[in-house]
Amino acid sequence: MKYNYIPKSILVTGGLGFIGSNYIRNRLSNGHDGIIVNLDAQTYAASMHNISNFSDPHKHIFIKGDITNQKLVSDIFNTYEIDTVINFAAESHVDRSIIYPSVFMKTNIEGTYVLLDCARRYWQSVERMDLTKCRFLQISTDEIYGSCESLETPSFTEKSKYDPRSPYSASKAAANHIVKAYHNTFGLPTIITNCTNNFGPYQHDEKLIPKIIMSCMKQEEIPIYGNGSNVRDWLYVADHCAAIDMVLENAEIGEEYNISAGNELSNISIAHIICNLMDDYLDTPNACKKLIKFVEDRKGHDWRYSLSSAKIATTLRWKPKVAFAEGIKNTIEFYLTRRRVEVTDSLVENCL
Ligand code: NAD
Repeated sequence: MKYNYIPKSILVTGGLGFIGSNYIRNRLSNGHDGIIVNLDAQTYAASMHNISNFSDPHKHIFIKGDITNQKLVSDIFNTYEIDTVINFAAESHVDRSIIYPSVFMKTNIEGTYVLLDCARRYWQSVERMDLTKCRFLQISTDEIYGSCESLETPSFTEKSKYDPRSPYSASKAAANHIVKAYHNTFGLPTIITNCTNNFGPYQHDEKLIPKIIMSCMKQEEIPIYGNGSNVRDWLYVADHCAAIDMVLENAEIGEEYNISAGNELSNISIAHIICNLMDDYLDTPNACKKLIKFVEDRKGHDWRYSLSSAKIATTLRWKPKVAFAEGIKNTIEFYLTRRRVEVTDSLVENCL
């Protein structure tokens, strides 16, 4: 069944982060008819720069706050008459989850519960619990399925069982279960999307692709875990944002959709691709690859992630539009421009 749901008053959580800010930017530039309330706790992963150049900024309201704060979230529902929630807010870095698991459990599990419960109470109170009038979309990850043991292992589908291995992926899998419970128990109109590794502009420098790019720019060591053979499946963030809108507007309620572009590459291949491109951009022939340094592997490092997008492709006709080669060039150019602006700004400051 096609719903053609039209969101009006959207609560985007984590909209100062990588994917959330790209999503808001894309939605506003596509002419969103309504408002977007952006609730973000401004953790280390957030950046106000990520929301500095939105078209239609009067349709975007930023609120600094924590998704685990039930009173605040409930007030936001009442004040802005929220009909749609897209929950991007999360602690998202696997390495950090190994060192500080508790904040992952708090934000990713309890935070999701608070959002679901506030949505249920508000939508029930205004008689919106109707498939045509509200949506709760949970943004999750391919990591909930665990690791594919070999290149021959078939890609995970929505029917694969959850088998998370890190505190991060376990917290995201737990959140997905709570989302499903709110649909099954209370009839909340929820949908879950599980996507592969995103890349593109506005990602935090701690993540693999920005880290490689920044290290090349600064001619610093590029740390690669183990022997670099771990495989990740890369999705350009604009394609992911388009998929989110398709799911929001037309997906079956209560369903789960995997989103992947099928760009499976080992970490060392990614490093080589970026180093070669950076040598061209920086005019440093054969210099960047020499910066690669293999470092002690991450604890419990999943070997390969791989998702099948067959369901979203056949039911919603989504397919990625940006080829990996084009997406990686856009990404590099974003970081080069940002660096030039930072250098110019610091020169101006020094002259004042
Ligand atoms: P990110 O780390 O760049 O941004 C997360 C944002 O959430 C930050 O702005 C942060 O301040 C905010 N936040 C954290 N805790 C909060 C809290 N308690 N209350 C309110 N805001 C809080 O993350 P991202 O890469 O944009 O990922 C967005 C979502 O997509 C996450 O749920 C993540 O699990 C999922 N995901 C990301 C990827 C990826 O490759 N980046 C892949 C699969 C799934």
